[in-house]
Amino acid sequence: MSERLTGHTLLVSLIATPIRHSMSPTMWNESFAKKGMDYAYLAFEVGNEQLEDAVKGIRALDIKGSNVSMPNKQKIIPLLDELSPAARLVGAVNTVVNQNGHLVGHVTDGTGCMRALQDEGFDIKDKVVTLAGAGGAGTAIAIQAALDGAKEIRIFNRDDDHYATAVENAKKINENTDTVATVTPLEDQTAFKKSISESDIYIDATSAGMHPQEDVSLIDDPSLIRPDLVIFDVVYAPRETKLMKFAKENGAAKVYNGLGMMLYQGAEAFKLITGEDMPVDYIKSILF
Ligand code: NAD
Repeated sequence: MSERLTGHTLLVSLIATPIRHSMSPTMWNESFAKKGMDYAYLAFEVGNEQLEDAVKGIRALDIKGSNVSMPNKQKIIPLLDELSPAARLVGAVNTVVNQNGHLVGHVTDGTGCMRALQDEGFDIKDKVVTLAGAGGAGTAIAIQAALDGAKEIRIFNRDDDHYATAVENAKKINENTDTVATVTPLEDQTAFKKSISESDIYIDATSAGMHPQEDVSLIDDPSLIRPDLVIFDVVYAPRETKLMKFAKENGAAKVYNGLGMMLYQGAEAFKLITGEDMPVDYIKSILF
């Protein structure tokens, strides 16, 4: 790295908190080194309090772009000059592109998920989707699946603060795309099971399976698992969640964790900010 950095080196940032655990700096800096690009990527511990100054800093220092994570994904919106159509619909930004001081916000979590699925040979177009969760990940996935032409998205969320977001997401999808979206409380287990049995794919975009909920799986009925049902869990730590283990033990053949989504949200952001392709196979060989 020290041999690479020069007076011409361009900077890409990541603004979030907590952020020291993030894999993104490794992903980006290894990509720059591999491709011989004169760029560096640095994580900055920035919360809502420092966000406005950080965005001014992006302009003042001509930082070429930035990733944005919690708690800033929504709060950054009024500080930007323009939003991509997906970012506007999702209501969140995870990537900012600095076009000579004009800051454009994008969201790549949803496209990252769709690309990860394509990598496994699954195209969301015309598919029936059962989606659990309507937080940040669930919202980005629902909107992108609709933009990419899913036939139906049946959203389930438990009766918590995110239920209202699920209702809002379905409304946006029904008003802006040809996809039919519905919302049902996760507590209606009969509807949840019926929906999975009629779906091409089950996407779990909840935090179930991740610390401190390692022992939680929203599916515990073996009759719901079919070899042709694609099961995608957004969680990537642990690499195999309780849901994934249960599905594999009961005959599922297409079970994926969230690592691919994490990789491709980064690859999409890399392309938007630098105009170059991230060397994804190389990054997979390092990180996976
Ligand atoms: P969030 O807090 O915004 O939303 C959490 C969602 O999970 C809500 O819909 C909530 O109702 C639901 N939920 C939580 N516990 C539940 C339970 N026990 N039963 C039913 N529903 C439950 O969080 P988020 O930012 O959307 O993140 C959700 C998960 O996705 C996290 O595990 C996160 O690590 C993961 N994630 C992965 C990627 C990736 O690139 N693979 C990207 C973003 C988030």
